[in-house]
Amino acid sequence: MNIVTLTIPQEVVQSNVPSWLERLGAALTTMGAIVFVLGSTGAFETVPILYSVISLIVSGVGILLLTVPAGLRVTSSSMNTNVMRSPVRRRGLAGWSLGVALTLFYILLYWFPETLVHVVASLEPLSRLIRNSPADRWFLYGTLYTLAVLVFGVRMLVRYRHSRYHLLRTVSLITAQLVFAYLLPSFLAAMGEPELYVHYFWPLKYDYIFPSSLSSMWSSGEGLTQFFAVWTVAMTVVITPILTYFYGKRWYCSWICGCGALAETVGDPFRQNADTSLRAWKIERWMVHGVLLFITVVTVMLWLDHVYDNVVFGSLAQRLKDIYGFVIGAMFSGVIGVGFYPIFGSRVWCRFGCPMAAYLGILQKYMSRFRITTNGGQCISCGNCSTYCEMGIDVRAYAQRGENIVRASCVGCGVCASVCPRGVLRLESGAKQR
Ligand code: SF4
Ligand code: SF4
Repeated sequence: MNIVTLTIPQEVVQSNVPSWLERLGAALTTMGAIVFVLGSTGAFETVPILYSVISLIVSGVGILLLTVPAGLRVTSSSMNTNVMRSPVRRRGLAGWSLGVALTLFYILLYWFPETLVHVVASLEPLSRLIRNSPADRWFLYGTLYTLAVLVFGVRMLVRYRHSRYHLLRTVSLITAQLVFAYLLPSFLAAMGEPELYVHYFWPLKYDYIFPSSLSSMWSSGEGLTQFFAVWTVAMTVVITPILTYFYGKRWYCSWICGCGALAETVGDPFRQNADTSLRAWKIERWMVHGVLLFITVVTVMLWLDHVYDNVVFGSLAQRLKDIYGFVIGAMFSGVIGVGFYPIFGSRVWCRFGCPMAAYLGILQKYMSRFRITTNGGQCISCGNCSTYCEMGIDVRAYAQRGENIVRASCVGCGVCASVCPRGVLRLESGAKQR
């Protein structure tokens, strides 16, 4: 009788055992989180700087120590090791607790900001330094958001260091968040200019082409603000379709967008929790296109009212605008979109609620050169690609048929290609062969 000996690769055995650095990282992260919660009660009111330094920097360093050594152990062939056994990453008690904590934070931020007054106060010196104005809850949110993208961005760079594509797009996402979403608006505020976000356009930043916004930007007489009015319209109706024709929606969703930056960095550990069922896909199509239709109708109504002196829809357009802002802008994009990362995956907002994703998706499906090509003969049906697709696309089904993937929802993150052990998948934007 032949005896077959199975050898478990060393990296698989070792990756279960946390190193002393990871244990230190876990301790620092926990300490930072405890100080953050304690500080929100006013416990460190007399030493606000110490509070922000300890809670934010210590937990940031903790997360780095926790994730970087683990990322360094990951080789291109062991990317999926132990993922499905992790209680944080696979909807265990720790994952649910994290989801509840994130959701709670968003609820406090949007509807009970007075509970965060001490946390906001701790950022007063930083706000004065870079914005020349008092800190508020949105400055707190922007600071936390940017820090999270930076810290988890380093994790991405280490974990996906074998792929030039991931290195470049992660650097792009970090830079867009740090420069365009955090520093530039802060400097504009310091100069007394409106806080403009040059990388957000309609329909994601839905109010940028509302008549009230455009007319106030234009009538300001400031060259920079007038340039921005032209910029935001040109990006929406001209440059976005052109870039999507050449590169698909990935140029925005996986390289520039702030929501994409958080999803691709903080959300990456949870990408395998996306629902891949047919039912989820049907719900997704109705919801995301419904949101796009909603904001398009509201925008057209506001413009008609503007042109005809408010006699067409009266207050209805304004009411619908407010409903959209509350339900989609606040509840969906923040509370559900990010709070539910550990439960439903990293792209809940992008899949089910983002009107920009819907707009780009229509362009991608019907007029783009972007597709994922498959070499069906090499596919071993392992399913890694489908498991790690954050948009819940059944990539394997296409690979098995050797069919190109041209899907409206694909954000071109490229992770399906990275986790494929057989090199079956390729992201391509070249001219299609006849
Ligand atoms: S199909 Fe691949 S590239 Fe597209 S979203 Fe899914 S994992 Fe990312
Ligand atoms: S395409 Fe690659 S990852 Fe997907 S099932 Fe086939 S071999 Fe596995």
